Amino acid sequence: MLTGLQIAVIGGDARQLEIIRKLTEMDAKLSLIGFEQLDHAFTGAIKEKIDDLDFSTMDAIILPVPGTTQDGQIETIFSNEKVVLTEEMLSVTPEHCTIYSGISNGYLNGIVKAADRRLVQLFERDDVAIYNSIPTVEGTIMLAIQHTDFTIHGSNIAVLGLGRVGMSVARTFHALGAKVSVGARKSEHIARITEMGLTPFLLKDIQQYVKDTDICINTIPYQIVTASVISKMPAHTLILDLASKPGGTDFRYAEKRGIKAILAPGLPGIVAPKTAGQILAGVLIQLLMDDLMERKGKEK
Ligand code: NAP
Repeated sequence: MLTGLQIAVIGGDARQLEIIRKLTEMDAKLSLIGFEQLDHAFTGAIKEKIDDLDFSTMDAIILPVPGTTQDGQIETIFSNEKVVLTEEMLSVTPEHCTIYSGISNGYLNGIVKAADRRLVQLFERDDVAIYNSIPTVEGTIMLAIQHTDFTIHGSNIAVLGLGRVGMSVARTFHALGAKVSVGARKSEHIARITEMGLTPFLLKDIQQYVKDTDICINTIPYQIVTASVISKMPAHTLILDLASKPGGTDFRYAEKRGIKAILAPGLPGIVAPKTAGQILAGVLIQLLMDDLMERKGKEK
């Protein structure tokens, strides 16, 4: 149980509701910032404004998946008020206070470092990224269906990258009957793609492999679908770019060529916020319990 822990949950989308629900079930005391418009009330959780929050009592701060913007704002879909996290706020937290976020950026890294606190990026964890790839793939299938007039079955699909998302995407589209080729740069990835019964290609040869592509799914957060790559694609190709913003596609050139290219971030939160929230909640609870045990051990 998380009895006695005081946690601030600041901002977010429907995924945060699962986290709030699970944390209150585990008996943590929550302060909810940026949830004024949420009708639902949770026992053990009070809605507060960020300026009224007593940071000096917080054992943990939970930020939404994107963390903050580059100017410190925290997005929240349950409030119209601007919520900004500052170094001054973190500085008054107890030394053991840990900040949890999905991903981070220069601003968030900077204020956490300046306040000398610990930041945990949940999406850096393999387990979270792999579980999260499941709703990501389902969202990708949804987009592929919505934006094409042909079946996935039998179509030529080029997947770029064989990381946590790329592997799940490649395997699932293959299982749906698509002819899947996967581009990677490492020889061990080429070997794995072959083992999976898919067609491998080296990313340096990408231009040769997109000539008959119906759907190109990019998972590489690096400019990989360049103008010269797009120029080799058939006019009907759909590009689904899953890589984190700004994606890996030259969207300006794709538009110029009349090729539909969609940057599709945050699919788990769109297609399966409940599951995506449960994935995060499960890992968060484990981490909070580990922290609590460690602190209790030190106090003895
Ligand atoms: P990952 O496991 O780190 O995989 C990234 C892949 O990109 C690897 O295959 C890596 O290959 C390749 N790569 C990286 N830089 C490269 C470069 N300069 N040239 C060639 N290949 C390069 O990451 P992931 O968990 O699969 O996530 C992939 C992306 O999807 C991330 O941007 C993540 O934020 C995003 N994402 C989006 C959604 C969504 O809803 N759209 C959901 C989850 C994740 P090497 O091993 O050779 O480096």
